[in-house]
Amino acid sequence: METRELMQRRTFLKTATAVTLTTSLSRYSAAVSAAQEKSLRIAYGGIGIEGSTYSRIRTRLEDFDVLTDDALTNSARFAFLKKYPVRFMPTVVAAATPGGPVDRATYDAIKTDFLKRLAALLPLDGLYLPMHGAMFVDGMQDAEGDWMESARKVVGARCLLSVSYDLHGNVSQRVIDNIDLFSAFRTAPHIDREETMQRACNMLVHCLQENIRPTLVWAPIPVLMPGERSSTEWQPGKRLWAQLPKLNEQPGVLDVSLLVGYVWADEPRATACSVVTGTAPALQEKIAISLAQQYWDAREEFQFGTETGTINECIERAMKAMTHPVILADSGDNPTGGDRPATDACYSAGVGAALSLSIGATLDPLGSKPVKVHAKVVFLLPAPNPRQREAVVQIDGVTLVLTSVRRPYHDIVDFTRLGLQPTSYKLIVVKSGYLSPELAPLANPSLMALSDGAINQDIVHLPPNKYRPPSYPFVADLKFAPRAVRSARSRT
Ligand SMILES: [Zn+2]
Repeated sequence: METRELMQRRTFLKTATAVTLTTSLSRYSAAVSAAQEKSLRIAYGGIGIEGSTYSRIRTRLEDFDVLTDDALTNSARFAFLKKYPVRFMPTVVAAATPGGPVDRATYDAIKTDFLKRLAALLPLDGLYLPMHGAMFVDGMQDAEGDWMESARKVVGARCLLSVSYDLHGNVSQRVIDNIDLFSAFRTAPHIDREETMQRACNMLVHCLQENIRPTLVWAPIPVLMPGERSSTEWQPGKRLWAQLPKLNEQPGVLDVSLLVGYVWADEPRATACSVVTGTAPALQEKIAISLAQQYWDAREEFQFGTETGTINECIERAMKAMTHPVILADSGDNPTGGDRPATDACYSAGVGAALSLSIGATLDPLGSKPVKVHAKVVFLLPAPNPRQREAVVQIDGVTLVLTSVRRPYHDIVDFTRLGLQPTSYKLIVVKSGYLSPELAPLANPSLMALSDGAINQDIVHLPPNKYRPPSYPFVADLKFAPRAVRSARSRT
């Protein structure tokens, strides 16, 4: 049932995107000459990573995919920007696989480059910031707030800042006070990345062309849920997020967003929230408060959407399953694993070789133990860069994929390019939380192991947390009445 709904939803979203963009573009093309006449100057740049405070693995410069200049302009992720009648000028976009805290020097280096490139493009009418929202930088609170405040200082007070976010991002008053327009994903698993980025850019271009100074309103909600319990594929997430497009249609409303936040961040800003952009502040506040109240009222309904258990319980269940492939998500290790020495050893040995391997505990020697095995190398992915190496080994009846660096296996092609057919296996174990949109429909059944790790789903027993504000479920008897706060940019 979920599978069919997911496919229908994907088809719908693809169609909806085409329709929305066509409508938007016809409106924009009518204004092409006006825009060219005004020569609007818009830049874009951002940084995106979801980083758990509880991971011991630091995210360093080599872990980021940093795009600038032509590489950014020509990247598929930002191809949609070419459809606007206004040129979006590139600065820096840096993205990394979810993981641990970002090393401070790495963050500073990327930010410095971004600000330098931004300053070189002045004066600017608009700036689009594609962000994730759950970045945790060593020794820093509210890294996204820092990024936006720093950008604001460079571009000045008149420039409109539009931001797109993952719905697992954390917002703060500093974030809200430095920007003008905001849009977050409305689906988890995420199948609306591009639509969200388009919404943020549509609003920005529209406001600049029409000379609109929008108002931004938000309402924090003291509830922190793992994404695995707040998917938009099942209740209560399904009904909470399903109402956003309709609310967005009201006159004076430019965007309505509802965010889960990111629970594995030891930060005062870790919270769910609603954010509404528009030109009708009273209505926006009403919507933000209503969504916050509904989310709060639903707090006890959030549940895992799949069967869960300990690792042993899940393995036992998988072995008894009469159907296949069982897909078992190792949720505690959701930021994924990798083992460079073991992978390199396989490349040195070559396909067909048998060798002894010590697997695991190279990324986090303190929190994990290696496994000693005797393995046969069955496949080596051709990789000009050693960081892209992936080896497939056979250990008795188990086929294991070893990678040089951490990376997820979310798409079918991640398996087939290694010569593996997911549907032919009885059990597939992936380091993941909820299953990706491509794997979920294959799972027969889907299981999630509530394993220990940096993304432990047992959130109330996370290690001591210094900064998290009182929130449900950490404080069970919390009292809450939602309150909407406007951006300092639009407060009178
Ligand atoms: Zn997310």
